[in-house]
Amino acid sequence: MARVALVTGGTRGIGGAISKALKAAGYKVAASYAGNDAAAEKFKTETGIPVYKWDVTSFEACTEGVRKVEAELGPIEVLVNNAGITKDGAFHKMTLEQWSAVINTNLGSLFNMTRPVIEGMRARKFGRIINISSINGQKGQFGQVNYSAAKAGDIGFTKALALENAKGGITVNAICPGYINTEMVQAVPKDVVEKSILPHIPANRLGEPEEIARAVVFLADDDAGFITGSTLSVNGGQYQA
Ligand code: NDP
Repeated sequence: MARVALVTGGTRGIGGAISKALKAAGYKVAASYAGNDAAAEKFKTETGIPVYKWDVTSFEACTEGVRKVEAELGPIEVLVNNAGITKDGAFHKMTLEQWSAVINTNLGSLFNMTRPVIEGMRARKFGRIINISSINGQKGQFGQVNYSAAKAGDIGFTKALALENAKGGITVNAICPGYINTEMVQAVPKDVVEKSILPHIPANRLGEPEEIARAVVFLADDDAGFITGSTLSVNGGQYQA
């Protein structure tokens, strides 16, 4: 029987590539999103992957969303916590709204999404939880105190949850992408990418979403059961943690 995988923010960008790669690897995939209905509908039509709309910053919405996916597809055995946002600004000018939105979306969502699935995974003695952190959670980034804090938090969450569940067939791992060619990075002015980002990437290019998806498929595999609590950097050599 195909395992069920849920990818948050799974309808575009890195998440879209993850959803497609998991489907190609034989999983029954559900992709969630926040509010971009047009992108979600297009994704659904192109891929045949069912899409679900809820806000990962709401525990109630996540609980209800998980129940709906499980009722329609079956128990969630692979959870990819991918949904994320940035709201950059120097800390001395950062608003509480910029701080809270980024912390709640990138870190709070890991509680909101994982808590409703973990008991089922523990009961079934199988689970794969894969958290999409960031290079900027490993090294810090100017203008991203909020994002760096949240993404570093994702790594701590990964390690502690891995310890608690290692005996029960559940693995918990983090992936730290470097700069990947998605709308999030396309929003950065071209000259900033060329002058300030590319020179710091030894591979001299941005990564592609499919290169993150490949790492997710690897960690989700039944045969990856001895890999837990790890942080996999996929960044073209930019930062060697
Ligand atoms: P995109 O902006 O392209 O896509 C983000 C996805 O997350 C969308 O599907 C969006 O839904 C969803 N989302 C955002 N907020 C919420 C919310 N509150 N509730 C539910 N879903 C939400 O992002 P990327 O593909 O670039 O990034 C994916 C992940 O990878 C993020 O965690 C990001 O921090 C991380 N990352 C990205 C890097 C990059 O270079 N792009 C580098 C390192 C890490 P909707 O479509 O409805 O808006």
